[in-house]
Order: sequence, then structure tokens, then C-alpha cells
Amino acid sequence: MTYTWRLTGAAQTQRFAACLAELLQPGDLMALEGDLGAGKTTFTQGLGRGLDVSQVVNSPTFTIIKEYQGRLPLYHMDVYRVGDDVDSLGLDDYFFGEGVCVVEWASLIEEVLPQERLTVYLRTDGADERTIKLVPQGARYVKLCEEFDFDACIGD
Ligand code: ADP
Ligand code: MG
Repeated sequence: MTYTWRLTGAAQTQRFAACLAELLQPGDLMALEGDLGAGKTTFTQGLGRGLDVSQVVNSPTFTIIKEYQGRLPLYHMDVYRVGDDVDSLGLDDYFFGEGVCVVEWASLIEEVLPQERLTVYLRTDGADERTIKLVPQGARYVKLCEEFDFDACIGD
């Protein structure tokens, strides 16, 4: 089962993510896929808002990992420039920790990514138009997708 919606404007993508964040639990993993500018960081900013993170969430491209404190810890990773350093990052401490992990360009570290995760595909369809697709792997994420109520979040 996959779930697909159309999102118009960065604010709507953030609202979508903020809504989803309310359902997140310790140890949850979201793998973000999509080209540069598709909205991966924008989506993560919405997650931060939904987790009551008060700091500004921005791109961790040069640091690989940034940690934020909200209702739960938010571990925001951007592995675009990770190169061969994957093993030295100690990612398992994050993946199997008490926070929520979000990984931009997750497919680049496919081999170290836990199988059970929610993959979020973002596709640019126009200046403000994006298609978002959720693909759950594992019972936890199937349930998460079933619980998520797009219409209640985004409204009509
Ligand atoms: P990525 O992290 O995937 O490279 P960013 O989130 O940094 O992408 O950038 C997305 C850009 O697209 C931002 O400038 C944002 O304002 C813009 N944008 C326009 N419409 C949308 C939308 N519907 N969802 C997400 N971002 C959007
Ligand atoms: Mg980004």
C-alpha cells in the first residue's frame, strides 16, 4: 500500500509533516527521497514544528547530523555528502535511539538503513506543486499511515 497526495506551497508541505509528527514515536525512522529542491528540508521543518521543536530546523548538509529537542528528540540527517564515512557516524545510535530519525537522500545509505521505515518520496511538479508519496515498510509504519488523516490536516 502506498499513499499519494498533491501539496501546493511550502506551508502546506510543512503542515502535512507537522500533522504526521503528532503520530510519531521514539525510534521512528523516515527516509526522505527526492531531487534537490523537492522539499525534503521543508518537510523536516514541518516535522520539527509538529514535535514542538523551538529551534530553527535547517539543512544539515555539511554536518550530516543535527539534533533538536522537542516532544521527542529529532535527529535530522542529510547524507548527500556522506561519502565513505558512513560507518564512522555511529548511525545505529540514532536509528535505535529514543528520538525520531529523518534522513535526506536516504537511498545513498540504503545498506545501513533499517528495513522497517517510512519512505517519503517528494516530487517537484511545478514551482509550488509537489507530489508526496508515503511508502510504509513494517507493521509500525503501516499503522502510522492508516492513522494519518490527510483531510483533517490539510482541510479542503
Ligand atoms: P530539499 O531539501 O529537498 O533540497 P528544500 O526543502 O530545501 O528541498 O527546498 C524546497 C524549496 O521549494 C523551498 O524553497 C520551498 O519554499 C519551495 N517549495 C515550493 N513549493 C513547495 C512545496 N509544495 N513543498 C515544499 N517546498 C516547496
Ligand atoms: Mg535538503
